[in-house]
Amino acid sequence: MGTLRLAEERGLTPQSANHFPLHLIRSLRSDQTPGTLGPGLKQGQELILVCTPVFPLSCVVQQYAWGKKGSNSEVARLLASSDPLAQISEDKPYAELWMGAHPRGDAKIFDNHVSQKTLGQWIAENQDCLGSKVKVAFKGKLPFLFKVLSVETALSIQAHPNKELAEKLHFQAPQHYPDANHKPEMAIALTSFQGLCGFRPVEEILTFLKKVPEFQLLIGDDAATQLRQSVRSDPQMVTSALRSCFSHLMKSEKKAVAEQLNVLVKRISQQVSAGNNMDDICGELLLRLHQQYPGDIGCFAIYFLNLLILKPGEAMFLEASVPHAYLEGGKKKNEKKGSARRNPF
Ligand SMILES: [Zn+2]
Repeated sequence: MGTLRLAEERGLTPQSANHFPLHLIRSLRSDQTPGTLGPGLKQGQELILVCTPVFPLSCVVQQYAWGKKGSNSEVARLLASSDPLAQISEDKPYAELWMGAHPRGDAKIFDNHVSQKTLGQWIAENQDCLGSKVKVAFKGKLPFLFKVLSVETALSIQAHPNKELAEKLHFQAPQHYPDANHKPEMAIALTSFQGLCGFRPVEEILTFLKKVPEFQLLIGDDAATQLRQSVRSDPQMVTSALRSCFSHLMKSEKKAVAEQLNVLVKRISQQVSAGNNMDDICGELLLRLHQQYPGDIGCFAIYFLNLLILKPGEAMFLEASVPHAYLEGGKKKNEKKGSARRNPF
């Protein structure tokens, strides 16, 4: 956390020394032999490394139902490695680890030498750590939340508000929206990772309407025709036709959704059993989502949203208002097949 810089001990005033954990400075003084830290140091002159503070944090863990369970979860493993007293329950989900100063999960500082108890408190009293621009723009608050996610089952589809809407919601109901900031999000894959992000090109959606009659039936002929015809007109027509199709799906009766899903699941399962590849209609994904959330309308969202598969190190960016859903993280080599499946503000 922060940069290392070299400073001559004489240049370190008692005031500036107060900004650094004393044990750190002391240990550097006692460990380093004068003259060994670098060229240009005269005999007898002591040079010490001064660090911007590094202190261990005890991060908040969120046990949402979609998280991987017990020590199968990277989140649980990180928790256990940072806090020797942490008890990991093998039957409980460990979905998210939050490293930040969010009002609902301010990381605790695990260091008796630091007077502040949480990262949020520390930042409030050490505003320069944010840099001058961020300090002004975000009123002295850390403007991001770093999370580690470990995904067992798909998350619900969401779209984050833009700054204007976030401020409005926070003003109207701060108990539900404690954060007035918008939440552009970036997900970086640690393992192979699957997610839905943004609307597919209209041509792809039209192809699914053709190949998946169960999907077309829920959207209805009128909305589907409107979408088909919009392709030849201006982008505004496309947007409005797309909106109409999506809301038709979302407003479908629960019973109708469950019925159409059953028909589709049966059809795909039969084809798969007969050895046919159903990738053209995301067969395998649909079966998996239906198994996780039987009868759920979200299963059909795969025909509206882009399906992204990230390799470790690849990332996806989700700006405000872009619909997205994290679906699954990749299995690690040491995970038994079938034991677990494997996910920003
Ligand atoms: Zn999100």
